[in-house]
Amino acid sequence: MMFQCHVCGSKESNTTYVTEVFRIGDKFYLVENILAKVCANCGEEVFSREATENIRAMLYGEGEPS
Ligand SMILES: [Zn+2]
Repeated sequence: MMFQCHVCGSKESNTTYVTEVFRIGDKFYLVENILAKVCANCGEEVFSREATENIRAMLYGEGEPS
């Protein structure tokens, strides 16, 4: 799938690992080493769908199957 930044529209990106804080309800979770694409133009971080799903599954535990 081709990258396109949803902020600035750039198609240039760098793949890297980032640390991000996710908020679920009133709790905050620090997740390290998330594979992400970072816009080469504006620095916006874009997570793959797989990465996002993995993080959600991890944070919610054996919760709801999607
Ligand atoms: Zn951008």
